[in-house]
Amino acid sequence: MIDTHCHLDLVAKSLDIDTVIEQAKIAGVTHFIVPSTHHLSWSAVRLLSERFSGVYYALGVHPLFISEDSLEYMGSLESILVQDAKSHRRCVAIGECGLDFFRGRENETLQTEVFRYQLKLANKCQLPVIIHARKSHQEILAILKQEPVLKGGVIHGFSGSFELAMSYIRLGFYIGVGGTITYERAKKTRTTVSRIPLNRIVLETDAPDMPIDGYQGDINQPKRLKLVLSSLNVMRCEDVQTVASQLINNSKTLFDFCDG
Ligand SMILES: [Zn+2]
Repeated sequence: MIDTHCHLDLVAKSLDIDTVIEQAKIAGVTHFIVPSTHHLSWSAVRLLSERFSGVYYALGVHPLFISEDSLEYMGSLESILVQDAKSHRRCVAIGECGLDFFRGRENETLQTEVFRYQLKLANKCQLPVIIHARKSHQEILAILKQEPVLKGGVIHGFSGSFELAMSYIRLGFYIGVGGTITYERAKKTRTTVSRIPLNRIVLETDAPDMPIDGYQGDINQPKRLKLVLSSLNVMRCEDVQTVASQLINNSKTLFDFCDG
């Protein structure tokens, strides 16, 4: 299994990271993608990938961590990405970036500017994007139509209708499926995930967030990715092995890991 979205730098603040990674590997997770949330986490995610095999990272600015100086940091993000590409570091995407209007639209203009900048950067560096979307799907879809991302990307932690998922898929995006589908009450998202093409799904835990059903209140960890996969298996008509290997192929195609 590949956990395409886990904030191991944040998990490390409350749990022993060596144990977390070891237990995840025992549970069958071979690759971890650690998205950053803002410029202060860029060095932490890079260090994690230096320390542990199978750990990859993404660099970007999360919409909830945007500040007045975010645009200034975009210049340094670009030079870090160029450096990383030269030294064959394991940066596999731009992210996480996106739009989040859950708490209002006060900084909508700034959020949009920073998001657009990151999409341009993704095209310049030929990387996919990891997108965070909350109360902002229509705006994000409109931007992606105007500014297509050549290497595509993933809509992480997706919850929503089949039609919405298909609008992203038609733009070349993958759907990031996480702990939401482990909850029986998440009927709409479960139906969506049972119907969308299997070759457009990738798995994620979003650790330490998005608790899995039965583990509410616990710090989420990549070792629980297998619970997301088993929920998915219940919803899909393909056999278990087909699902597992297709998901691995999808993640490898999208993120183009250097170890194949
Ligand atoms: Zn995240």
